[in-house]
This record gives sequence, C-alpha cells and structure tokens, in this order.
Amino acid sequence: RADLALYQAKNAGRDTLRFYDPQMQAAVSARAALELDMRIGLAQGQFELYYQPQIDRGRITGAEALLRWRHPRDGFVSPAHFIPLAEETGLILPLGEWVLQAACAQLARWARHADLAGLGLAVNVSPRQFHQAGFVAQVLAALASSGAQGPQLKLELTEGLLLQDVEDTIEKMGQLKGYGVGFSLDDFGTGYSSLAYLKRLPLDQLKIDQSFVRDVLTDPNDAAIARTVVALGTSLGLRVIAEGVETEAQREFLERHNCHAWQGYLFSPPVPVAEFEALVRKTNGVDAQDPQDVHDAH
Ligand code: C2E
Ligand code: MG
Ligand code: MG
Ligand code: MG
Repeated sequence: RADLALYQAKNAGRDTLRFYDPQMQAAVSARAALELDMRIGLAQGQFELYYQPQIDRGRITGAEALLRWRHPRDGFVSPAHFIPLAEETGLILPLGEWVLQAACAQLARWARHADLAGLGLAVNVSPRQFHQAGFVAQVLAALASSGAQGPQLKLELTEGLLLQDVEDTIEKMGQLKGYGVGFSLDDFGTGYSSLAYLKRLPLDQLKIDQSFVRDVLTDPNDAAIARTVVALGTSLGLRVIAEGVETEAQREFLERHNCHAWQGYLFSPPVPVAEFEALVRKTNGVDAQDPQDVHDAH
C-alpha cells in the first residue's frame, strides 16, 4: 500500500528514503496525497453528480450520473484520474455508495414533480464495488431509504466487471432485476465478452462505446462495428444507446441504422442538476408527461 510505504519510510527516518528511487518516491507520495485528499473530499462534501441527458427520438428519457470532484486547491479533478486510484485503494467502496445514495435521492425528488417523474438515471458501477459482498443490499438500501423506484435506476457495468466472477455477476444481477433495476453494458465493443456469455446475462441495454461513434462516418470498421452492435442488441431483445455523439451527422448515421437512443455533446455535456432539469422542461415540454396538465390547459 502506497500510503503505508510512505508512512513507514517517514517513520524510519531520513536514511531509509535513500533506498527509494526518487521518481518512484515522488509518485508514491503523489498517490498517497491524492488518496488522502479523496478521503477528506468525501467527508467534506466535495463530490457531486453531474447529469448528461439521454435522448430517445427527440425526448430526454433520463441521464447518466457522472461523478465530479471539486478540489478546494486543484479545482475540478477528472474521474478518469481519480476513479482508477479509488478502485485500487478501495475508496471506491464508500465513494460508490455515496453515488448510489445521491442518485436515488435525486430520482425520489424527480418523482415528486409531474414533469420530471418519468426520468431514469444510469449510474456507473466499478468492478470492486459490484463484487463486494454487500452490493445488492447496498443498492436496495439506497432505494428504500430514498423512496426511489427500482425501474428508474439503471446500473452501467463494463465487460471486465462481468467477466471477473461470472456466477457472482449473474446472481447479483438476478437479485436486483427482481426489484426492477436495469442493467446497461457500458463501453460495449472494447472488451472481450463472447456472445454465448452475453446471452446468459439479464442485460437491458448495450451502450456503443464513444471510440466507435467518433469516426463512424470516416472509418468503415467503426461504422461496421456500430451497425453490428445495433443488430446484435436488437436481436437479443436489448435496447441500444450510443455515447459520445458530437455531430448531427453521427446522430443521423445512428438513426439511419436503427439506433434511436444517444447521449453526447451534440445535445449537452454533463451538467449540474438545475441545468439538466431546465433542459428537460425545455425539450420535453411541461405538459408532455402529465395528462392532467394538458387537460387543465384546455
Ligand atoms: P463513461 O461511463 O464511459 O462515461 C462517458 C464519458 O464520456 C464521460 O466522461 C462523459 O463526460 C464523456 N462524454 C459524454 N459525451 C461526450 C462526447 O460527446 N464526446 C466526448 N469526447 N466525451 C463525452 P467523464 O464524466 O470524464 O467520466 C469518465 C469515466 O469515469 C466514465 O466513463 C466512467 O467510467 C467513470 N465514472 C464517472 N463517474 C463515475 C461514478 O460515479 N462511478 C464510477 N465507478 N465510475 C465513474
Ligand atoms: Mg458510463
Ligand atoms: Mg461509457
Ligand atoms: Mg466510455
């Protein structure tokens, strides 16, 4: 453990540091500092969720919740930077639990507003978090204590996670499915899952990785992969969503190949909750989801 090594080195006195490669020593201290900062950040409420709209045939159906860390000194720190370290150190366990609770609390708040009640939330789950012993209980507790409904919650899993312990994976997915919780396979196409294996998992959705979407118009291989994922998902009875859609031409390509759900900068980057809600009201209309409102208006 990096922090332990640093602690021991410090406590053994200056001479001990001589045995460390200075570059390695610097890397170890930087990681230990980051880990400590994350612990403090979690305790002090420096983490928050941003919401990226997911669009289906022109309507916002929900969002992907994406973790943001506002560090008091370093400013915004990217999840690409701190999630891998959190996974390594185990800090992902309290952090992931916080994300689940925050997402469920948000779903419960939306459920109280007619124009936001139908929204769903996709939450990223990392391998260590999913495979910990109490994961199912943790999700159920987050739902129960907030009052959020299972079917509004979707967990995004990666292929690597699914392959780590197949029996544990199937068991946990099955239990959560019993409460209506959905599953999306994130970054699909970048891993190694076999078709036979995909069939055994109670998935609801495949998410085409943004690396294929990026060059879908210029790289015939990426175009073929995107089309194949749509065909595969459709024939397995799964929904398919594309991530990383940045241009109208990409969206049009996907639409033409029967992928109607997408998220990406073309519509909106991940935004704070108030901005997300404003986008929903503007895009879906205040009356659209509530027949009573429509009735009153006439
Ligand atoms: P991801 O789950 O694949 O999320 C998609 C990433 O693509 C997000 O980066 C999002 O901001 C970015 N993105 C969205 N639209 C576009 C676009 O049009 N173009 C481009 N170039 N990028 C786009 P972000 O928010 O930096 O998150 C990076 C990764 O960190 C996520 O990848 C996910 O693996 C992880 N992550 C984020 N939040 C959480 C969390 O709460 N828990 C866990 N375990 N992982 C998380
Ligand atoms: Mg994701
Ligand atoms: Mg993804
Ligand atoms: Mg991705």
